[in-house]
Amino acid sequence: MMTDDIPGTAQEPPGSTHFGFRTVAEDEKVGLVRGVFDSVAGRYDLMNDLMSAGIHRLWKAALMDWLNPRPGQHLLDVAGGTGDIAFRFLDRTRLRQANSDKPPVPARVTVCDINWNMLGVGRDRAIDRGILGGIDWVCGNAEALPVPSGSVDAYTIAFGLRNVTHIDQALAEARRVLKPGGRFICLEFSHVAVPVLDKLYDAYSFQVLPRLGRWVAKDEDSYRYLAESIRRFPPQGELVERMRGVGFDQVKYRNLTGGIAAMHSGWRL
Ligand code: SAM
Repeated sequence: MMTDDIPGTAQEPPGSTHFGFRTVAEDEKVGLVRGVFDSVAGRYDLMNDLMSAGIHRLWKAALMDWLNPRPGQHLLDVAGGTGDIAFRFLDRTRLRQANSDKPPVPARVTVCDINWNMLGVGRDRAIDRGILGGIDWVCGNAEALPVPSGSVDAYTIAFGLRNVTHIDQALAEARRVLKPGGRFICLEFSHVAVPVLDKLYDAYSFQVLPRLGRWVAKDEDSYRYLAESIRRFPPQGELVERMRGVGFDQVKYRNLTGGIAAMHSGWRL
């Protein structure tokens, strides 16, 4: 599906925004998104594996490779949901520490998500993994982070940015909370850059995904929203420009699986 074909991509009237392919009032979107993740929280991790045939794990590993976590760093993982990025970050820093002869300096993660149900699942998963320290679970909106300015070494947001109402505001907040020299990385579903794969992916997203949602999570609408929200997310080049627009430097992106997902990196200098 080309961007021009996407329902509702025409300029939205003032005070309105999109929720998937629907146009809604701006102040309605947060509640609608919250409803989606309230509904899927308990089955979110299982659905992630099913929907992507486990590929989301490779994408998250690629995010860690690019971020290159180091002991002593403080990561803010926004839209951190059930803790996937936080666990990977801590594992990588511990591995690096174990292979180093430098004195131990523990890393920290603040997981910030707007949805208590998702955070609750994440906290339970941390306890199941024996992780009792090093992670703070904070409920908050990516557009108005409850985090001091210039306080974190790295900011990640995985599969979260497309859900926020004002992307530029969330990007500006990301830059605000980073220390000078800090790094931002967004991992998000993006726009397929390979002919034929785009057609297959469209068929999968709009035919298979909602059905999978109905069978496994008993929620077809939330998974239809997922497919629609992906199509509404800015293409790779546009997101680069918007990151530059809020002041990020050295902005680059990398496609994953032909552009089904993409990572965008930028620095606060
Ligand atoms: N990052 C996790 C992962 O990769 O598995 C979870 C991604 S999940 C698709 C999207 C998350 O974004 C949900 O947990 C949702 O509650 C959160 N979210 C949506 N809008 C948000 C906002 N405005 N601020 C913070 N979190 C938000």
